[in-house]
Amino acid sequence: MTETTSAEHFDVLIVGGGISGVGGAYHLTKNRPGTSLVVLENQESFGGTWLTHTYPGVRSDSDLYTFGYEFKPWTGPPIATAQEILTYMGEVIEENDLAQHIRYSHEVKKAEWSGEDGRWTLTADKTDTGEEVTFTCNFLYMCQGYYNHKEPYTPEWPGMDRFEGQIVHPQLWPDDLDYKGKKVVCIGSGATAATIIPAMAPDVEHITMVQRSPTYFVCGRNADELADQLRELEVDETWIHEIIRRKRLKDQDTVTQMARDHPDMVKEELFKGLREILGEDFDLSPHFTPKYRPWRQRLAFVPDGDLFHAVKDGKASAVTGEIETFTETGLRMEDGEEVEADIILTATGFNMNVLGDIEFDIDGAPLDWPNRVGFHGTMFSDIPNLAWVFGYFRASWTLRADMIAKLVCRLLDHMDEKGAEVVTPKLRSEDEGMERLPWVDPEDFNPGYISRAMHILPKQGDRDPWRHTQDYWNERKVFPVFDLDDGLVYE
Ligand SMILES: Cc1cc2nc3c(=O)[nH]c(=O)nc-3n(C[C@H](O)[C@H](O)[C@H](O)COP(=O)(O)OP(=O)(O)OC[C@H]3O[C@@H](n4cnc5c(N)ncnc54)[C@H](O)[C@@H]3O)c2cc1C
Repeated sequence: MTETTSAEHFDVLIVGGGISGVGGAYHLTKNRPGTSLVVLENQESFGGTWLTHTYPGVRSDSDLYTFGYEFKPWTGPPIATAQEILTYMGEVIEENDLAQHIRYSHEVKKAEWSGEDGRWTLTADKTDTGEEVTFTCNFLYMCQGYYNHKEPYTPEWPGMDRFEGQIVHPQLWPDDLDYKGKKVVCIGSGATAATIIPAMAPDVEHITMVQRSPTYFVCGRNADELADQLRELEVDETWIHEIIRRKRLKDQDTVTQMARDHPDMVKEELFKGLREILGEDFDLSPHFTPKYRPWRQRLAFVPDGDLFHAVKDGKASAVTGEIETFTETGLRMEDGEEVEADIILTATGFNMNVLGDIEFDIDGAPLDWPNRVGFHGTMFSDIPNLAWVFGYFRASWTLRADMIAKLVCRLLDHMDEKGAEVVTPKLRSEDEGMERLPWVDPEDFNPGYISRAMHILPKQGDRDPWRHTQDYWNERKVFPVFDLDDGLVYE
């Protein structure tokens, strides 16, 4: 156990200063003003995902009325750039005096629970000075996201070392990358590719999207007609935020239901959006007709159809198939097609991780995440005084981050009422032998980054309170009221 005599102590310690951590700090300071709090963030500033990613055009793919916090109105266009999101978060920090709670350049390496002391000890490296510092806390609130910010996912392809140009992963974008007039290949067809291709298209000679299989895209105006009308009527921004949030959530729910009940009809609607830009005669079949059901992966929104305008203008194109090898001058596909490139972008996603790759131990024993069962998808069996923000995938992440932050406040209030210092999820007698299911149901949602990480993630159970449903409509009703004495043991 680390020597704790010089450690600073806080009631709640938040790991991560992204949208979840900053939101958590807001809810705690508002709902529990007496609670001492620190946020430890390993980067030099707040923002998380929106600070890490700096590739051209980087933007949200869900709308900011729902990706924004419930408590801070969003007043811009629905899809926002990373810089706009950082500005919004900066305002939240300033308006609520949160900066005093945040320590940057603090990388948490180790978290140790002592049952005897009833507290966590965290060891962190100060990335600016190299110093090691320790903190203790009663409650550990994990807001470190779900992927490794330093090492993105790049598959190994044959011949990568032969390629004479540059290979760049968008997560590690070099500020000085010169792509003007160059031939660029972007491997991948997810939200990152859909953003980066139209942003680079005007400057490059040509950019080719190389994909193993196609993705669904939704084309639409980056504007909200109702929001604009309400603004014309000078309706208060707080009301507009709430109204548009509810409307968009309802619309998303309708689309999800439609996609499940009438997948072909939804497909046709999505294709209609593409044809309006590419023309009726454009053949969507090889490159833009996915094989999976719409909504099994997050639908990528293409504001103003910019990706498809780049295709129409001839600055961008798509190649679909398996890559056989990198060559000196680009890629060779399995069907023999050669794709020339000066720069190859690997928009192949990220490496998921569990709780920031921090070394966890409980009373001296290393923590075995895959053997733990989630409690409402946020706490874990036999792990005391800890909650993890795992947001929504299909809906906006922040909807769940706000919900969990309020739950943590409710739980801490409940502990105070009971005079308890420790709370631990424990399987009940009726849960003996309960089936352990994957953390995310692969039938419902199956992107590659989750499939690759399933073996390191905790499990869910087949009944409440052990299910992790990813169902906003159910959780929004259940979270504020579920019984805090069912499945939780207090000491
Ligand atoms: C390019 C991109 C676009 C996305 N767009 C959307 C979108 O439009 N809508 C949506 O809902 N979701 C989107 N997502 C998912 C997105 O990551 C989440 O929605 C959200 O930003 C996650 O916020 P977070 O605060 O939980 O985690 P993060 O943004 O990952 O922030 C976590 C922070 O914790 C820090 N940290 C991690 N480990 C440690 C440690 N050991 N010690 C100290 N600090 C640590 C990280 O450096 C980071 O700053 C997108 C993801 C990416 C990569």
